[in-house]
Amino acid sequence: MTGRPVELVVEGLRYEVDGRTLLDGIGLTARPGETVGVVGPNGSGKTTLLRCVYGTLRPAAGRVLIDGADASALGVKERARRVAVVPQDAAGTFGLTVREVVSMGRSPHKRFWEQDGPDDRLRVARALETVGVSALAGRRFDGLSGGERQRALVARALVQEPGLLALDEPTNHLDIRYQLEVLGLVRRLPVTGLLVLHDLNLAASFCDRLYVLSGGRVVARGRPEQVLTEELLAEVYGVSARVAVHPETGAPNIVYLPERSAGVTPAAGPAA
Ligand code: ADP
Repeated sequence: MTGRPVELVVEGLRYEVDGRTLLDGIGLTARPGETVGVVGPNGSGKTTLLRCVYGTLRPAAGRVLIDGADASALGVKERARRVAVVPQDAAGTFGLTVREVVSMGRSPHKRFWEQDGPDDRLRVARALETVGVSALAGRRFDGLSGGERQRALVARALVQEPGLLALDEPTNHLDIRYQLEVLGLVRRLPVTGLLVLHDLNLAASFCDRLYVLSGGRVVARGRPEQVLTEELLAEVYGVSARVAVHPETGAPNIVYLPERSAGVTPAAGPAA
């Protein structure tokens, strides 16, 4: 259902808007087939980073390399065959059915005027089934619940057959079963995964490595057990927590201590 996993390298990325630096000196690598998580407090630049990787935002400095090729030199379709994104909200879908929205994911593989062929329709049907929304295929996309919409957007990304699948808060509207399914799917597929996640325990369970953003900079990177320490949670998020090792998975398991968090102040502020 996907192409071949690609390598993603982000080098020295800076993004500015209205004289404000939202990202600065970002370096990130995802090896082919790896699942990399991007975590950090609200406003730390995670979505902006994903948009730079996908190409909807143009960085002021630095490069995004996909299998060694500068992504800014790729055409829109060429880039969309390599990188698919599941955004937090879907623009340009008003009035469309779920099947039509998912079928949009086939456009990088077709000519501008070309209709879906039998192969495209089969891929769309399979993707709808994979994410459990086949029964909704004829319904209007904008009439779905948040979770159903999210799953349809995952299906749209799957039919793009990308080598890199980037998901912005994919678990936002999903109940726990679908959270586990969507994240499990990213791990199972032959794809490089770039996941923006709020839930650090899910990030620890599903990601090979994590990058922590704060104020538009990478403040920590490494395997979940290296990164998710009690010190980091206090410094970056301003919360008190205990981090144990999960007895079954071996992943770090965070238990937050809300009553002790009131006195903890995060060290890093937003980017200037
Ligand atoms: P995150 O995804 O980590 O919550 P974002 O990447 O959405 O963070 O935003 C990072 C910062 O950039 C925030 O302070 C946000 O308000 C600001 N920001 C994002 N987009 C714009 C924009 N187009 N113009 C001005 N500020 C923006």
